[in-house]
Amino acid sequence: RQIQEKLKLIDVVFELIDARIPLASRNPMIDEIVGAKPRLVLLNKADLADPVRTGDWVRHFRALGHEALAIDAASGTGVKEIPAKAKELLREKIQRQIAKGMKPRPIRALIAGIPNVGKSTLINRLAGRNAAVTGDRPGVTKGQQWIRTGADLELLDTPGILWPKFEDPKAGFLLAATGAIKEEILHVDEVACFVLQMLAEGYPDVLKERYGLAELPEKPEDMQAAAQLLEVIGRKRGCLAGGGHVDYEKAAGVVLRDLRSGKLGRLTLETPEESAVSAE
Ligand code: GDP
Repeated sequence: RQIQEKLKLIDVVFELIDARIPLASRNPMIDEIVGAKPRLVLLNKADLADPVRTGDWVRHFRALGHEALAIDAASGTGVKEIPAKAKELLREKIQRQIAKGMKPRPIRALIAGIPNVGKSTLINRLAGRNAAVTGDRPGVTKGQQWIRTGADLELLDTPGILWPKFEDPKAGFLLAATGAIKEEILHVDEVACFVLQMLAEGYPDVLKERYGLAELPEKPEDMQAAAQLLEVIGRKRGCLAGGGHVDYEKAAGVVLRDLRSGKLGRLTLETPEESAVSAE
């Protein structure tokens, strides 16, 4: 509801999602919330995601009728293209203003996304050193501040916070794995086993190389096989509890830290094909 209030003030929504988990990091009701307002889907943290799969996802969103861009708000890669993309999306509106003899005013945008997806980082990156909060405007809700960025673009200073896709358990694991939700909500060793299963399926060579494994379980989808794999990794990494037993929580910490910091390489844990399945 808060976002819908803000929609009245803006021309375009920048929907920020996590390029590693484009499905799980999307709000399930985003289409209804945003309605007909033009939308630019921004796949953030692309520096941590598999570039081939990011390309697939960008094409997927474009096929759905949304303009999409892969960005890395932390380092700034791709961020410069955002104002031009927004202008492109609003080309007809801008042309109408020009035809009426009006000087096009800066495009106004709202950044929306789930917690930890990088909203504040992107606002700071877009605003840059030239950031100037322009303050209240006539006809605009009192107290609403606009951040003027260099390129004919103004941002609402408070991003729209969306809730992630909790309802299916897989999405919950993906969100915990990437650090979007606190892993304590789930058992950390279960989250790590889930990650190992995903890696064994999608990136077996990465997994073998990182942990020096000669081979992977034949059926990694079996929870017991994944737990055994976590045990092997824990032993290799010296994550031991008393009596020579592996400390699973410590081992899980190693795997999750490796994933989040990019030490396992650039990985994407969802494909557009799954999106077609989950929409059915
Ligand atoms: P918010 O809750 O959506 O405002 O998210 P933040 O902007 O606070 O970002 C959450 C975390 O993600 C921070 O540690 C950021 O440094 C990190 N982050 C944001 N964008 C990127 C990115 O593009 N790449 C990487 N690697 N990290 C990012």
